[in-house]
Amino acid sequence: MNTIRELDNFIIKCDKNVEYFNEVVDSINIKEKEVLSFFNLNELTPRISIIFMNYESFKTYIVNKYGSVKPYIRADADHETKTIRVLDIDDQIKYTTHKDANISDLIKLIIHEFVHMCHDQICSDYNQTIWFYEGLASNLSNQNYSLINLNNCDFDKLKNNFGEVKNNYCYAYTIVNFILNNFKKEEIVRLYSDADYLRKRSNDIFLEAKSRQIL
Ligand SMILES: [Zn+2]
Repeated sequence: MNTIRELDNFIIKCDKNVEYFNEVVDSINIKEKEVLSFFNLNELTPRISIIFMNYESFKTYIVNKYGSVKPYIRADADHETKTIRVLDIDDQIKYTTHKDANISDLIKLIIHEFVHMCHDQICSDYNQTIWFYEGLASNLSNQNYSLINLNNCDFDKLKNNFGEVKNNYCYAYTIVNFILNNFKKEEIVRLYSDADYLRKRSNDIFLEAKSRQIL
């Protein structure tokens, strides 16, 4: 049976009957307004599609797109078509390395991608700024990364080679957590809207976050 529900900014579909479907949709419904208001957006156009997939169709999609499927892959966000594909929780547990997959993580994962899509609508300049995009998405989606000691962070490498840095998401989470808790709203808006400004400010922001960290 096909299940489908529509929200202001989402169309959510499921290719099999999953018992958590309505719970996930209701949580997204609450969270989407919060994220939109953070970015001062009224809506996203076009709406985002979320598709819950079983392993067979998910695997087929991933192999077509990337050539192979890795055991830790459980979701894919296509920014061109604004479509988020997520592997059903039972199948995540069965077929991927995410043996502790649960509904709350699934919702956070979807909101993380939603934050990226809202942010992209305002600014999509990733040159030396991926740490900020990922830090914002992980904070606004309440993913439970822990704060990490920034003394061990090579910030130049984090800016230039985000994917190569060990604990990259924890560092990004920690620095942006500092920004969100200490900076004025206008400054935060400027940072997410203006990549040149963000690049200009980022070294000072990092040093400030490092000197004021409480761990
Ligand atoms: Zn991300």
